Amino acid sequence: MAGSFSIDVTEIRDRARRKMADGPVTEGYRRSTREVIGVLNDVLATEIVCWMRYSRHAISATGIDRAQVAAEFTEHADEERDHAMRAAERISQLGGDPDFDPKTIAERAHTTYETFDDNDLKGMLQENLVAERIVIESYQEIIRWLGDGDVTTRRLMEHILAEEEEHADDLMDLLGN
Ligand code: FE
Ligand code: FE
Ligand code: MG
Repeated sequence: MAGSFSIDVTEIRDRARRKMADGPVTEGYRRSTREVIGVLNDVLATEIVCWMRYSRHAISATGIDRAQVAAEFTEHADEERDHAMRAAERISQLGGDPDFDPKTIAERAHTTYETFDDNDLKGMLQENLVAERIVIESYQEIIRWLGDGDVTTRRLMEHILAEEEEHADDLMDLLGN
């Protein structure tokens, strides 16, 4: 049988007032904010690289299916930029500074920026599928690590993960699989 719910409201009220400067981060936060901010800054770098790669591919795509593929790449680029901004906003809520420094973005990102000399559509689609599969697996790890220690960041990462899975599925459709 589950225990009944009970909380010490007097103590919670007292802590809320004493640690007001921590903003939304309370005693109930069960992760190190420094570590979560670090993880989110790597997610931010990853999303920026994905945004750049899709944008470059959308512009450079050539060939018979160009219009359809470029439209999908543009849509994905917009969504990767949204993911980057959501990660940045969460970093700020946790009391950190989002790191947009171009000098370190490539080394912090989980994915890479690949282009194609002949701008072949199939090569681009495959490369983007690989990148989506990398983020899907690394974000799953982040979600498992967060557990119930930071539910808001976990939910954000779950939302992003679901969109990455849609991206991978869209690419599979375009590859004709
Ligand atoms: Fe993304
Ligand atoms: Fe994606
Ligand atoms: Mg799509």
